[in-house]
Amino acid sequence: MATTTAERPARSTPAFAPDLVYFEPDALEYPKGRRIYDWAKSEGLEIRMTTSHNRITNLPGDTELEKYRMAKRTLVVGIRKTLDFDQSKPSAEYAIPIATGCMGHCHYCYLQTTLGAKPYIRVYVNTGDILKRAKQYIEQRAPDITRFEAACTSDPVGLEHISGSLKEYIEFMAEEPLGRLRFVTKYHHVEPLLDAKHGGHTRFRFSVNADYVIKHFEPATSTFAERIEAAGKVARAGYPLGFIIAPIIWHDGWEQGYAELLEKLQVSLPPEASEDLTFEMIQHRFTKTAKRVIEQRYPKTKLEMDEEKRKYKWGRWGQGKYVYPDERAAVLREFITERIFERFPQAKIEYFT
Ligand code: SF4
Repeated sequence: MATTTAERPARSTPAFAPDLVYFEPDALEYPKGRRIYDWAKSEGLEIRMTTSHNRITNLPGDTELEKYRMAKRTLVVGIRKTLDFDQSKPSAEYAIPIATGCMGHCHYCYLQTTLGAKPYIRVYVNTGDILKRAKQYIEQRAPDITRFEAACTSDPVGLEHISGSLKEYIEFMAEEPLGRLRFVTKYHHVEPLLDAKHGGHTRFRFSVNADYVIKHFEPATSTFAERIEAAGKVARAGYPLGFIIAPIIWHDGWEQGYAELLEKLQVSLPPEASEDLTFEMIQHRFTKTAKRVIEQRYPKTKLEMDEEKRKYKWGRWGQGKYVYPDERAAVLREFITERIFERFPQAKIEYFT
């Protein structure tokens, strides 16, 4: 029997499968490296070797744009050498390395500039060394709690079916009375994490936004409906849950867009979700470099990056960024804060920046 469009199940966003996988030879000495190698082979993926995960050249493609698209479909498996963690304000004390690069194509993503000419996806096999270092950071700050952000340079949930690293970090942190893990995702592939022993020490956050933003600026990520369904599963698995509304973008109809977002969250989430729920809000910002890169990589983007309409905020390293003028930022913050408390009176708002 023919089905109508309404009856047809929505297409599910597939888990990431790279076109090309590079390995550093030493990575194969680690069980994780070996496992990923066997997986890549069984999937029939093209495998190449590289001397360093920081030097991948000769990606296929005739133009810069083609090479960029290919890089987003290239996985590099290597050893993390730098074991000093960066700071990660305001969401945590430290950024814990887990992966670098992402298969998503969010136009506004700051990785466009921070990863520069290396947009390919790197996963690290020496997670034992990384966790050992995390333990030292925790001990240094004792008796204070130390929070680690695992999504500063990637979307680790979208890579979990390949690396399995997030589960390791979650279970490590469960055993650390003073350690906490947090990460954010736009992917719904949460299954491998639902049975992890998290001990309530990991806050699992989803990035959400108004329809307009998801539709125009977040290609190659899971749909809103998929993310919310996954958030329900995560809440039922007992994880503390959070939402990051970012980037908050001023657009025609933004009030309706953000009001509907909060309404949809309230209607779709199970009661467990409200028990320990946080929200973080980040307004859209861009640097001059980001604007130039985004316009090259997504030439048709509707992303508004008009310096005249923004306020210039000086940055710590000299590179300032453009944010909304104070008045606009205040209106956005107040409106969305009110909608959050209307729908989730128990929730905690961690910050607006
Ligand atoms: S999913 Fe996150 S990390 Fe990946 S491209 Fe989008 S914003 Fe960037």
